[in-house]
Amino acid sequence: MKYNLPELPYSLDALEPKMSRETLEFHYGKHLQTYIDNLNKLVAGTPYEEMSLEDIVLKADGAVFNNAAQTWNHTFFFETLAPAPVKMPEKLASRLADAFGSVEAFREEFAKAAVGLFGSGWAWLAEDRDGKLVIVQKQNAGNPMTDGMKPLFVTDVWEHAYYIDYRNRRAAFVDACLELADWEKVAARL
Ligand code: MN
Repeated sequence: MKYNLPELPYSLDALEPKMSRETLEFHYGKHLQTYIDNLNKLVAGTPYEEMSLEDIVLKADGAVFNNAAQTWNHTFFFETLAPAPVKMPEKLASRLADAFGSVEAFREEFAKAAVGLFGSGWAWLAEDRDGKLVIVQKQNAGNPMTDGMKPLFVTDVWEHAYYIDYRNRRAAFVDACLELADWEKVAARL
């Protein structure tokens, strides 16, 4: 068993009421666990067994890519949420202002990309090859690392991420994720 469920930096009910214990029990405890179980089965006895998770995401396709990227994406998503509001560090605020006009304009553009993504996927804030901050929509298990970008922040917009707490109100869930974001961790990735 190469991969195990990553530990959360908070308790299962710490994100309530924005994200309930029940959502964490299913999303983290069952959905993420299933991707990890599938990945362990798929890589066993293959050359992928010797690679890092990031290398698998960069090199694999098909089911191996899907389960590796879902493992990477969910780990990144959960570790970038915080129970108490985290003030955005100035260096991140100024980079967002450079790229989008203002922090508020970034939030609006990010929310629009997350809400407008058709079907299942992920909305990302990433740093592109030229060091510019960009918002990227990726369907299914997509991750901007495969485009040579560095992921900074992500919101999961698969229905399983929000249906328990928000039913069909994806926009309210996306707002909650922006409120729960640990901006210090995001800034540290710059
Ligand atoms: Mn998910």
